[in-house]
Amino acid sequence: MRKRPIPGSAGRVRAMRTLGDAVLHAPCAPVDRFGPAVADLVEDLFATMYAARGVGLAANQVGVGRQVFVYDCPDDEDVRHVGHIVNPRLVLADGVVVRGPEGCLSLPGIEAGTERFDHAVVEGFTWEGEPVPIEGDGFFARCLQHETDHVAGTVYVDRLTGRRRRKVLRAARRAPWGPA
Ligand SMILES: [Zn+2]
Repeated sequence: MRKRPIPGSAGRVRAMRTLGDAVLHAPCAPVDRFGPAVADLVEDLFATMYAARGVGLAANQVGVGRQVFVYDCPDDEDVRHVGHIVNPRLVLADGVVVRGPEGCLSLPGIEAGTERFDHAVVEGFTWEGEPVPIEGDGFFARCLQHETDHVAGTVYVDRLTGRRRRKVLRAARRAPWGPA
């Protein structure tokens, strides 16, 4: 028997915000009051992330401009990492820089080779306000950098240059959800 329910099972699937929506392109405000309201938001983020088959989701992607993200992401050794973090700070990103395919639930159907560090440490809090560190390697390190970027108002496209960036923006314009 599980002591706790499956993440997201009590959550509500929320509408996904897509590239061009102002809430994705501005820094999120820190959470200043921990507790059940934050837990409810985390549940909704899990429900929405699983419905969209993602490996990570930040609160501003569902229109809530607060510093929260959730993840359910494998690393390169296929170890699964599941959790949430509030007021995350990327305190370390090091190791080799790897250009690997990266996607985002706010740019559905699009992927681009994006450079990320192979190792990352994020520090923040649980919804109850307990300090929590998260450390990741490989694909999970990529996820941690991608999600802390979201909280800062940065989308992975912002990290692309030249041909890769133009290609993603062109695909986004042509997508059914694309910015007008
Ligand atoms: Zn994303």
